[in-house]
Amino acid sequence: MRRCIKEPIPEIFAAWDAMSAAVDEHLKGNRAGAEELFRQADLPAVWNWLNSSWIDVKRNVVEMNPPGDTKAIPKSERDPDRNIAQNIRAAVLERDGYRCRYCGIPVVHADIRKIAAKLYPESVVWDSRDPKKQHAGFQCLWLQFDHVEPHSHGGKSSIENVVISCALCNFGKDRFTLRQLHVEDPRLREPEHIGYDGLERLRAFATLTARPRKAKKPAVALPRSVSPTAGTARYFIPGAWISSGYLLTPVIEGKSRWFKLSDEVQAKHAVRDGVEGCLLVCRPELLVRRGIDADQLLDVPPTHQE
Ligand SMILES: [Zn+2]
Repeated sequence: MRRCIKEPIPEIFAAWDAMSAAVDEHLKGNRAGAEELFRQADLPAVWNWLNSSWIDVKRNVVEMNPPGDTKAIPKSERDPDRNIAQNIRAAVLERDGYRCRYCGIPVVHADIRKIAAKLYPESVVWDSRDPKKQHAGFQCLWLQFDHVEPHSHGGKSSIENVVISCALCNFGKDRFTLRQLHVEDPRLREPEHIGYDGLERLRAFATLTARPRKAKKPAVALPRSVSPTAGTARYFIPGAWISSGYLLTPVIEGKSRWFKLSDEVQAKHAVRDGVEGCLLVCRPELLVRRGIDADQLLDVPPTHQE
């Protein structure tokens, strides 16, 4: 027995490191650095590792008819929910974390790949019809929800039968049973969390290239009668919104900007002349440093208290 169809190679972890560093650079506003790191993560060795084993899946089978194995059951007897419900997915992800339960490699949700591809179309290439035109790192670390007992053999779309897996461990397993593949049942091992966020810190940028999300309740409380402390000023940024401790702006002067909120940088949702956005209280240098004409954005409070 083996723990997975194919042992991961070191290049996979190199790709993951580069992708993680790319996201960090993006968060710092270093677009060129992020672009280069995403490019580095597109490693041919990783592409070959995956693509040689997820197309011709029969090659992954060790024993076609192992004694005592389950058999495919008629369609009418299978779990009608082939698709795994959202609440089951959320619970499985909570239990397993962003890590393949079979081979242990870190994984990334397809949503994050889509955001990265939108932000960096040059280096995160993804053509859904052609695996050759798919970024190797995102392809290999593609988060999957795998039915341990195949659905075709009566496996349920339940928390007990679904685990987080990588692309190879899910697609390479296909319709085959663990017994046919000589792979150990991953549920016999406890999930091991590695404190990795699945690059979910990029999710806040989902709407930067599309329409900004409607701002929800402010993440940082601002006194109602805020009087700017020495050196700070009040700015109104139309279309900006607050997410996970950051103020995010739509494209200004060709670039999206973000401000980490703190005691010195406060923000809250506001409306000026019917336009939704955010009120930002900070020192003018913070805007100037980002190439924003601070004077243009100085807040003109409405006559009535919001
Ligand atoms: Zn795996």
